[in-house]
Amino acid sequence: MNMPPASLLDAAALRQFAQASTPSASPCPCRLQDAKAWESITEERWPGALMQPLGTLRDPALHEPTFEEWHPAGTRYDSPDAPISVRHFPFNRCDVYRCTACTRVVLRYTEFGGYYVDHRVRVVDPALVTG
Ligand SMILES: [Zn+2]
Repeated sequence: MNMPPASLLDAAALRQFAQASTPSASPCPCRLQDAKAWESITEERWPGALMQPLGTLRDPALHEPTFEEWHPAGTRYDSPDAPISVRHFPFNRCDVYRCTACTRVVLRYTEFGGYYVDHRVRVVDPALVTG
């Protein structure tokens, strides 16, 4: 499959996309409304048909993006209120999608373990996006 290169988004662009999102309170077929803290999602559960790629946070110029996390307020990797710092792990290796049904903007990246791959998804709260 030949995909065009994804455009690199910065924090301002990501925030703008998330601010433009106006999800309704009712559940969406994408079932991503509760993915606020890096939910693990299998390839089968990923609602690919609904998801429109917006770009990526992974800078192609960086060989190995940092694994350092950013938690100035004592949050953890899987805290729902952890800042979305585009230069830190795991945001620096995420692709950005929008659900065409509910307009939610979500981040997705893949963890590669020894014997598994694990897709992680998190809904973008624009208030948490930081440079
Ligand atoms: Zn949706």
